[in-house]
Amino acid sequence: MTEPRYEVGACFRCDRDGIQVTPIGEITTGQGETPTPIEACRSCLERLVVMHDQSGPVRRYTAAL
Ligand SMILES: [Zn+2]
Repeated sequence: MTEPRYEVGACFRCDRDGIQVTPIGEITTGQGETPTPIEACRSCLERLVVMHDQSGPVRRYTAAL
């Protein structure tokens, strides 16, 4: 598994600028449009991964709340 590559930019999610971000995807607004890259900072990326995980089967620690 390769570590995400981080570069200085703006996070699409928390709107901070000049921070370490990594590309996670891109948005296309229409046909023939140049895709706009989406970049997220490390903390937002971790939250997105957690959200992704929670869309799966309910885990034991969730049931224990
Ligand atoms: Zn962020």
